[in-house]
Amino acid sequence: MAGNPHVGVLALQGDVREHAALLASLGAEVTLVRRPEELARVDGLVIPGGESSVIDKLARPFGMQHPIRDAISAGLPVLGTCAGLIMLADRLADGIEGQQTFGGLDVLVRRNAFGRQVDSFEGAIHVPALGEPAVRAAFIRGPVVEDVGSDAVVLAVLDDGSIVAVEQGNLLGISFHPEISGETRFHERFLARVAEWTAVRAA
Ligand code: GLN
Repeated sequence: MAGNPHVGVLALQGDVREHAALLASLGAEVTLVRRPEELARVDGLVIPGGESSVIDKLARPFGMQHPIRDAISAGLPVLGTCAGLIMLADRLADGIEGQQTFGGLDVLVRRNAFGRQVDSFEGAIHVPALGEPAVRAAFIRGPVVEDVGSDAVVLAVLDDGSIVAVEQGNLLGISFHPEISGETRFHERFLARVAEWTAVRAA
C-alpha cells in the first residue's frame, strides 16, 4: 500500500503524546487507540510507558485486551517501551495482585527492577542492531528482562548484564524511553516492520 504508514498509540494511560509526536515527525499518520475499532484501522501499535498495572486495568473494561492479543498473534507490529514492554511480556515478576499482560514476547520481565538509588537514570547503550552512535536511553522505574525464551532475541544489555531490549518477529520491547531522549531509531525500526506488514497484507 502506498502512502504514509498508519500507526496507533495505545492511549489508555502513559506518555502517549511523546510517541505520537515522534511517529508523526517520522512521517507516520497516527491514531490514538482506545477502542477495538481504532485498533482495527492501524498497521502497527506503540504501547507507551506509564504504569503497566493501570494500562492492564483499563484495557480490560475498554474491551482491548483480547483484540490486542489477537492482533499480536496475527502479526501486527508492536513497539512497547517500559510499561509497554511489561505489557508485551509473556511472564511477569513483581506485578501487582492479579496483573495481566497482553503477552507475545517469550520473556520474563521484572517490574521496577532497578534499585531505589538508580530507579531513574540516563545512559548511553550500545545496541548492535542499530549501529553507531550509542543509544541515549532514559530509564524511569523501568523493567528488566530476566529470562529470554528461545524465540526472542536480545538487542541490548547494560554493563551489569541487565537485558533492556528484545525483539521477536513483529514485537519490539525496550525498558527505557527513546521518545524523551531524541532517539528515533527504535521507532524507525518499528515503522520498517509496519511497512513489511502492510506489504504482506496487501499482497
Ligand atoms: N514502573 C512502571 C510499571 O510498572 C513502568 C515505568 C515506565 O513506564 N516508565 O509499569
